[in-house]
Amino acid sequence: MNIHEYQAKALLRSYGVPVSDGRVVLRAEEAKTAAGELDGPLWVVKAQIHAGGRGKGSFKEAEAGEKGGVRLAKSVEEAEAMTKQMLGRTLVTHQTGPAGKQVNRIYIEDGSDIETELYLALLVDRGTSRVSFVCSTEGGMDIEEVAAKTPEKILSFSVDPASGLSDFHGRRVAFALGLKGPQVKQCVALVKNLYRAFIEKDMEMLEINPLIVMTDGNLKALDAKIGFDGNAIYRHADIAALRDETEEDPKELAASKYDLNYIALDGEIGCMVNGAGLAMATMDIIKLYGAEPANFLDVGGGATKEKVTEAFKIITSDPNVKGILVNIFGGIMRCDIIAEGTIAAVKEVGLQVPLVVRLEGTNVEQGKQIINDSGLNVIAADNLSDAAEKIVKAVKG
Ligand code: GDP
Ligand code: MG
Repeated sequence: MNIHEYQAKALLRSYGVPVSDGRVVLRAEEAKTAAGELDGPLWVVKAQIHAGGRGKGSFKEAEAGEKGGVRLAKSVEEAEAMTKQMLGRTLVTHQTGPAGKQVNRIYIEDGSDIETELYLALLVDRGTSRVSFVCSTEGGMDIEEVAAKTPEKILSFSVDPASGLSDFHGRRVAFALGLKGPQVKQCVALVKNLYRAFIEKDMEMLEINPLIVMTDGNLKALDAKIGFDGNAIYRHADIAALRDETEEDPKELAASKYDLNYIALDGEIGCMVNGAGLAMATMDIIKLYGAEPANFLDVGGGATKEKVTEAFKIITSDPNVKGILVNIFGGIMRCDIIAEGTIAAVKEVGLQVPLVVRLEGTNVEQGKQIINDSGLNVIAADNLSDAAEKIVKAVKG
């Protein structure tokens, strides 16, 4: 689960991380008062969307001379005008994809004087099963680009969970970032606070880009991006309350309400499968036969008819889906339940695309019977490769 920059900064502030003073604005009328509460003489007007690269992004409805989703204002009036321009518009960055994201919140910040921009991130490194620090002197830039072009400018190391974090780690970061004098002490404290926040709040990713050295020599987190482990959200009611559902894929949101493991993808074949392993295999075999899956979906072991119906509705709501493959191996899951759910869903939402069903396992005969008796135009398949071949053929001709 991701949160907005202003929420991330409020959380980090509570952990003693230096951030700018700021106000979030939902309506343009609030902008003047909000900006007036900050000192100036520089204000930063920042579009709040769950995507990075806002500064270099552009608005779909931009007028001549307008720049990205992070702008510097010299007066309260200018900050207000910029807020008006951005609210309600669609911001496109390299992370949003061409469709962009609508800006519904603006964060107005007290502007900082920047000496240098640095990069600092914490993430769960699945390779070492540890929390890793990533730091670079090349802040304010796309870190993927830095990694590709100048990998020597990135330092990465992981923390042994048994011995935990010590000042040594902070000094290592400070050294890699070229910090000096009192900045080293500040960096040691910063690294400690970030690590504590990361662990206590079950984060998956915490990225400060840029971390800045101000002209007065002090450090500050100028941007903050945080992702939380979705499986641990139940432990953090305060974090769950920060969820902004308008930022999420409506299909994934609907799936989460019904406790379905669903991930939207870019392909044309919708998949309804039980078991994560079989779902992965199904995606692989669709690719093998020359098409792309439109989603990953594991309906789980004990799915009800209602859950299956909902899953089917989510798949068909995706305009990219040109065909659907239902691939069920009934162990705990019964094939007749899947058949009933599929038919109920088709009756409710209709079937505009070819549907291939492969059932195997518990109550398979009953399941097949239900589908045969339904009078629906379903293509039956005998095994996994037969099913994949049939759906790809039905879609691609
Ligand atoms: P992103 O583009 O979505 O990563 O948004 P950031 O919050 O990282 O802002 C983009 C860039 O705007 C930063 O790299 C800075 O160069 C600039 N910027 C942001 N805040 C300030 C500020 O307070 N003062 C100045 N001078 N520049 C800022
Ligand atoms: Mg940034």
